[in-house]
Amino acid sequence: MREFTIAAIPGDGIGSEVIEAGLQVLQTVAARDGGFKLRIETFPWGTDYYLEHGKMMADDALDTLKRFDAIYFGSAGDPRVPDHISLWGLRLAICQPLDQYANVRPARLLPGIQGPLRDVGADDLDWVIVRENSEGEYAGVGGRVHTGLPEEVGMDVAVFTRSGVERIQRFAMDLARSRPRKKLTLVTKSNAQRHGLVFWDDVFEVIRKDYPDVETDKMLVDAMTTRMVLDPRSLDTIVATNLHADVLSDLAAALTGSLGIAPTANLRPERDWPSMFEPIHGSAFDIMGQGIANPIGSFWSAVMMLDHLGEPSAASALMTAIEHVTAHGNVLPRDLGGNAPTVQVTEEVIAALEGRNA
Ligand code: NAD
Ligand code: MN
Repeated sequence: MREFTIAAIPGDGIGSEVIEAGLQVLQTVAARDGGFKLRIETFPWGTDYYLEHGKMMADDALDTLKRFDAIYFGSAGDPRVPDHISLWGLRLAICQPLDQYANVRPARLLPGIQGPLRDVGADDLDWVIVRENSEGEYAGVGGRVHTGLPEEVGMDVAVFTRSGVERIQRFAMDLARSRPRKKLTLVTKSNAQRHGLVFWDDVFEVIRKDYPDVETDKMLVDAMTTRMVLDPRSLDTIVATNLHADVLSDLAAALTGSLGIAPTANLRPERDWPSMFEPIHGSAFDIMGQGIANPIGSFWSAVMMLDHLGEPSAASALMTAIEHVTAHGNVLPRDLGGNAPTVQVTEEVIAALEGRNA
């Protein structure tokens, strides 16, 4: 029997609520499939750990994580600690050293879900946003000096390297090529950012020649927001810098019904180190501890994890179960217009997997 090791890091806030739900669903998928086993180890890293040990995760966390086949992550962020400490101490402290440079964020309207856009149905909105996940505006280069003085400076330097830009754009091209429409939109801001983003565009012009079968176009990021809202059908695969894709993918999630359903994969395409799968939402301070978080983003992230592990039939069984529940519409979480708590949505997806609510 095939066996995969999964490191679960529930983290903070609703992260722990939706990962617990996701692990139950994953174990059901594996049991139903019968061809593979999941060995799951859960790590207590996050803000509670930080308040006790003065760091968000253990010193040997990266060496530990490298031994796993995949990482299943909740969220980093808690009202008791500044956000930049939790994010850099946990999520980015994993993504960056494990060089998970390709952040893949599918966005589509699930059956039965009415998004906020009038006359836009499931066939009209089916995108994959590819986010550069290792450098750009979140490279971590910069500094802050002369704190509190009039001459205080705070700087974050956006870093673009040829290898970094080329690998993410080629990854996006390959992904676009694998989808029926073979269409890729490059998001940029090269009118204003005349060094890094002109370079970003120039690299695209070069690599584009290797993909004559992929139709490409280019959008400035500000205009891209209006195109996503006004002409969603015109888009398919999208590639953008770390910051731009971060912002655009929250918009994409809202346009598909809620931030609570959107999944993401932080991929290490070379597969020498594990990739990390997580819902795109954060800790949701306003609803944490209430048991009402939408777990679908974490379930869909588990679908992406199963695909990455080479279990496509289990992945599609889980996606079908999620879609069965959204299409049916009688058990939906609050953010999708229902009133079901997390445990009930989870039970409904498990029932769909087991064919009990067909
Ligand atoms: P958020 O995603 O936590 O919440 C934004 C809004 O969406 C809130 O109103 C929330 O209730 C709602 N929402 C999000 N997920 C939901 C779900 N599953 N079900 C129902 N409603 C949901 O973003 P934020 O408020 O900007 O950030 C809160 C904290 O999370 C901060 O500390 C931030 O740094 C952190 N954060 C972490 C990650 C990560 O670790 N990957 C990502 C984003 C934000
Ligand atoms: Mn984000």
